[in-house]
Amino acid sequence: MSDHNWGDQGANHRPDPTWDLDPQTLAVRGGLSRTGFGETSEALFLNSGFTYASAEQAEASFAEEIDHFLYSRFHNPTVSMFENRLAALEGAERCLGTSSGMSAMFMSIACMVSAGDRIVASAAMFSSCHVVLTEILPKWGITVELVKSDNHEGWKNALSQPTKVVFIETPSNPLLEITDIKFVSDLAHKVGATVVVDNVMASVVLQKPLELGADVVMYSTTKHIDGQGRVLGGAILGSEEYFTNYLLPFNRHTGPTMSAFNAWVLVKSLETLNMRVNQMVDSAQAIAEFLDAHPKIELVRHPGLKSHPHHALAMTQMSGKGGSMIGFEVKGGKSAAFELMNKLRVIDISNNLGDSKSLITHPASSTHRRLSPEVQAEMGIHAGTLRLSVGLEAAADLVKDLQQALA
Ligand SMILES: *Cc1c(COP(=O)(O)O)cnc(C)c1O
Repeated sequence: MSDHNWGDQGANHRPDPTWDLDPQTLAVRGGLSRTGFGETSEALFLNSGFTYASAEQAEASFAEEIDHFLYSRFHNPTVSMFENRLAALEGAERCLGTSSGMSAMFMSIACMVSAGDRIVASAAMFSSCHVVLTEILPKWGITVELVKSDNHEGWKNALSQPTKVVFIETPSNPLLEITDIKFVSDLAHKVGATVVVDNVMASVVLQKPLELGADVVMYSTTKHIDGQGRVLGGAILGSEEYFTNYLLPFNRHTGPTMSAFNAWVLVKSLETLNMRVNQMVDSAQAIAEFLDAHPKIELVRHPGLKSHPHHALAMTQMSGKGGSMIGFEVKGGKSAAFELMNKLRVIDISNNLGDSKSLITHPASSTHRRLSPEVQAEMGIHAGTLRLSVGLEAAADLVKDLQQALA
């Protein structure tokens, strides 16, 4: 048999851009770019560099006169497929894949700020984001003010003076406080701020911050996007202008790049994201209702419950669904919380979230232990607080597991 032809053997046809495809079609087809071999699935390009047909082509590539991959720190065909697919789902002009959610969070802000600038952020958040904002950036002469998510007067006061960046995590980790993205974005734009939303907890399936007025969205793709506990990754989405003026130069020279292998896992994960998240969210609603009615539970925080202080806002901002996470407090403090965790037989003890496996964590002693007791209390984290990430097991089995552990 002769060598296979390296020419254009496969299908690379695309629907017309005016077709206005459904998100589920975009999740499977968005960003798809086939090589001349016509492979069905997205190809994995595990190469760091690229070659040029001539010195002139190399020169024109670096001058950006022609579109040619240069080096995998800047871009890579597999990573580009992931980025273009997520951008299509989010409705964003551009997307950049990063090595982790934290590199996405850090870079989305660091690329914009200089000494003397001011940042305003929602107070309850993932603890590493809190460390970046309150410990790392202030070392470089940046001031940061935190506002409680539902304190509208607080947001008005904080955003009555020039501000460079507003950072919002909603729902917040672990107690699922909701910040009004539209309200805060409108205030932020009046003082010239760029609004960055950490959309990890809701995911693109439930919440579209750009449609609500935010400028930039960031993800830990480690969570629902991979959703199967395999690879770390992050993503930043925003406008062409933000990318050209701030993000791309910062990324190019500092290098928190997504690996091509991780992008290959993640581009395939996007195909099933919608189904997985919807199943998790439906189960989480049922489990939150079960916990809410249980006599040994002090309090349940789930945006889908009417008892949640920001339920109405969550329902309009998050496509009418509460998300896959539940914060709850067991009567009897730390020992009762630990006893419950230790008795579980299906749900695993793990600090990850958004996984196909249901995972439970005790924030005060794990994910949020780095924060002082005062800051923890401000975020609503107490000794008996637990965070449950609902996975893809049957909801009835998860309820059964919690029921026997609480008996
Ligand atoms: C996990 C998480 C991050 C950080 O993501 P990594 O991929 O672990 O670096 C940031 N924000 C939120 C809300 C998260 O849950």
